[in-house]
Amino acid sequence: MAYAYDDQNIFARILRGEIPNSTVMETDHTLAFNDIAPQAPVHVLVIPKGAYVTLDHFAAQASEAEIVDFHRVVARICADLEVAPGMGGAGYRVISNAGGDGVQEVPHYHLHILGGRPLGRMLAKAV
Ligand code: AMP
Repeated sequence: MAYAYDDQNIFARILRGEIPNSTVMETDHTLAFNDIAPQAPVHVLVIPKGAYVTLDHFAAQASEAEIVDFHRVVARICADLEVAPGMGGAGYRVISNAGGDGVQEVPHYHLHILGGRPLGRMLAKAV
């Protein structure tokens, strides 16, 4: 089964420059920008520039260069924003929502990097 990518999603539009974003870091393969509705003092979204829907899609089909670049950007952001525990930061959480059960709103692969305050437990109890 193939992955279906909707090129009208909001992050695709950001990548095409059709709507603005608050860029944190940009490389050949990756863009990171501040979430428009931050849920913590640090709330950065990291997205590949390629057309991938979810983490599993990216991990299965992206090139090694894309995958390495993406994760190096995550590391640089955690260091720059001083949340990386190995560098004296207080810590952070990475979230990637996928599909219906994951409550993914934007169908372009992204990681949320959250930090800057204690984040509580990982999941709320089931409702
Ligand atoms: P998700 O549920 O993981 O797909 O989350 C999508 C995230 O994208 C949410 O945290 C939104 O606040 C964020 N978001 C939606 N539109 C924008 C935008 N134009 N710029 C920055 N972040 C956005």
